[in-house]
Amino acid sequence: MQRRAFLGLVLGSAVSAVANVKSPEDTSVWMADSDIPVFLSVCDKIENVKQIVGFGNFNIISFDETLKVAARYSQLDAFSAKEVEFMEKMFYEDPSQYGFYGKKTVDSISAIIKEEDVFKVHGTGHYLFHGHSKDSFERVIKDVGDSLYLTSGVRSVVKQMNLYFNKIKSTGGNITEAAHSLAPPAYSYHSIGDFDVGKKGWGYKNFTVSFATTREFWRLRQLSYISMRYTINNQDGVRFEPWHVKIV
Ligand SMILES: [Zn+2]
Repeated sequence: MQRRAFLGLVLGSAVSAVANVKSPEDTSVWMADSDIPVFLSVCDKIENVKQIVGFGNFNIISFDETLKVAARYSQLDAFSAKEVEFMEKMFYEDPSQYGFYGKKTVDSISAIIKEEDVFKVHGTGHYLFHGHSKDSFERVIKDVGDSLYLTSGVRSVVKQMNLYFNKIKSTGGNITEAAHSLAPPAYSYHSIGDFDVGKKGWGYKNFTVSFATTREFWRLRQLSYISMRYTINNQDGVRFEPWHVKIV
């Protein structure tokens, strides 16, 4: 029922009267009602920054730069102190309360991805770190074939926050459900070297278990120099992700 209340706010209608009715076995943590307005305005402002800087640049934009861009462009609204505080809270909180047990990969919300450390993969809008990540990716393409491509590479804190917040939105405010399919902003291995691959022409199916039925996936499994980050029933509490290549 909380989902309906949340969607009601999103849609601007008034269905919130039936909020807070939960089945006893449901241990999901939902976004607090008091946080919903600030959450939604933060989502919009991050999306606006993405539109301004472009999809590629947004993959590696820092938190501080995001705030600056929002403040600098007249067509955007700067983030308020309350919105910054909310983003900090969501970054620094302990996600084990949502059933997520992965390792922290980024210590500071202001972490920077240096341009000289990354390489833009032609035709994808995505980046890889120079060195081990880039070398492994190129070796994978050589071994599996060019029907395989990069579907997501380096992600900054803000990029991961954007994906995580959109996931929370799509679950109607169920943070537990969101954290099962997307690492919280301080916990993504994309921020330190992992990447996602997919089969050309498969679109969104590349991010479903169907990817595990492709020839490309089975070829990947035979390569000794890479492995799968999120296997079935992994200890991190993340869903099975056959497309996510473990590098770090
Ligand atoms: Zn991934």
